[in-house]
Amino acid sequence: MPIALLPLTRRRFLASVAATTGVVVFRPAFARAADTDPHRVALLSDSHIGEKAEEVARECNMHDRLKQVAGEVAKLSPKPVCAVIDGDLAYKTGTAAEYELFAKLVEPVRQANVPLHLGLGNHDNFTRFADALSKLRPKDKPVDGKQVTVVELERVNLFVLDSFDPKNTGGGMLGETQLKWLAKTLDDRTTKPAVVFVHHPLQFDIPKGAKSSGIADSVDLWPVLKDRSQVKAFVFGHTHTWRLAQKDGIHLINLPAIGYPFAKTEVSGWVDAAFTEKGVQLEVHAIDPKHAKHGDKAELMWRKG
Ligand SMILES: [Zn+2]
Repeated sequence: MPIALLPLTRRRFLASVAATTGVVVFRPAFARAADTDPHRVALLSDSHIGEKAEEVARECNMHDRLKQVAGEVAKLSPKPVCAVIDGDLAYKTGTAAEYELFAKLVEPVRQANVPLHLGLGNHDNFTRFADALSKLRPKDKPVDGKQVTVVELERVNLFVLDSFDPKNTGGGMLGETQLKWLAKTLDDRTTKPAVVFVHHPLQFDIPKGAKSSGIADSVDLWPVLKDRSQVKAFVFGHTHTWRLAQKDGIHLINLPAIGYPFAKTEVSGWVDAAFTEKGVQLEVHAIDPKHAKHGDKAELMWRKG
């Protein structure tokens, strides 16, 4: 199988593009920097960046909040091996101006040499995302019209999927092509735990005639995850709440939003993850360091297999 190793500019990452399977894989570089923890990952979601820095939603200034989070992630010591933002980068519909401001705000993370992997949510737009953030994303498209990435870390593989559904402004969908790609990509990687990122939550019961607010094809997605024992966790955003749950032994990690919470009392911010041999340790970094959930810690153990 022809594999091309392509160095990314100014990055300590290599993208290995497997042409026959169409998988874009990121692996930490061979010469890892001493100041980077290969097991640490910053988990971000729902930044909702508007076109202008002054934009406010639910009394929150999203620009200032992402600026704060990007600053915190960039200054971590040791540095995380990467950061993932789990969709809803943009405030409304993913305009070019929204992505330009987003790119400017995450620049400190890139400057710190921390690769940032991007998922798409219902407030994003694939085409404009691809245009405006072309410098931030790989050129190859393993799933046509979708933003999918596999990040191979030492202890875990991260699968960042794309649930953006152009026909649904609230809910999401993965689609048959992406699910087939996911099954194959998971089957090719059975030796390490797999953590799957999707913007939307699972939704199995969709009222007749209604549009989903979660993943419309959850019934098709779930067996792909459940029946593969290497899948240990499913990470999502969209609800703007920080919650941990389990289904069939798979951890469901609901990331807090950066931009604004729906309920005023809900924590917003990001989550610091440290992957261990047997699971993951999580710690909440709230936007407001006085919030009761700031510093909230959890240790999740992986299911057997
Ligand atoms: Zn959101």
